[in-house]
Amino acid sequence: MRFTRLRLNGFKSFVDPTDLLIQDGLTGVVGPNGCGKSNLLEALRWVMGENRPTAMRGGGMEDVIFAGAATRPARNFAEVALQIDNSERLAPSGFNDSDLLEITRRITRDAGSAYKVNAKDTRARDVQMLFADAATGSQSPALVRQGQISELINAKPKARRRVLEDAAGIAGLYQRRHEAELK
Ligand code: ATP
Ligand code: MG
Repeated sequence: MRFTRLRLNGFKSFVDPTDLLIQDGLTGVVGPNGCGKSNLLEALRWVMGENRPTAMRGGGMEDVIFAGAATRPARNFAEVALQIDNSERLAPSGFNDSDLLEITRRITRDAGSAYKVNAKDTRARDVQMLFADAATGSQSPALVRQGQISELINAKPKARRRVLEDAAGIAGLYQRRHEAELK
């Protein structure tokens, strides 16, 4: 599974529709402080199912919606769409009938989040599971936040183990076991 495109609309500082093509090789995003580089990475986490406002540097989930600026009114919704090249059919079963997967998450003020995969309504949990076994996902160690390296160095052993387990790709197993125990 390879990320090929990220589209944002009303997400944080990206008030106007923004289309980011992710090509083969290394992609660099450069720009002055406050231009939205970290917001882009947060959009990626968010569309993969991140639900902790703190991980989005906000107080509540609706804080990801464009909050308005001197010359622009606030928006009522935010939407992020992530396209994935699935031509190798590496997505989990249930998502594996097409070469291209498009995951969309939209949040509307007072109405919460809704997800779609290839335009079909999908539960948050299923979107999270789509990524749980891949070396990605909203809490993937592949996504390194600003300040995270020093946090890791100072972390307690248990917290550090969690990161290693994620990197080893067994986080999805824990999630499934947890759900099986609830049933
Ligand atoms: P740095 O180089 O300092 O790390 P950066 O490019 O990572 O900067 P971000 O942290 O992504 O910048 O962007 C911060 C900007 O996004 C701030 O100007 C902030 O006001 C704006 N911002 C964050 N949330 C919202 C929101 N809900 N509505 C409008 N603007 C927002
Ligand atoms: Mg930043």
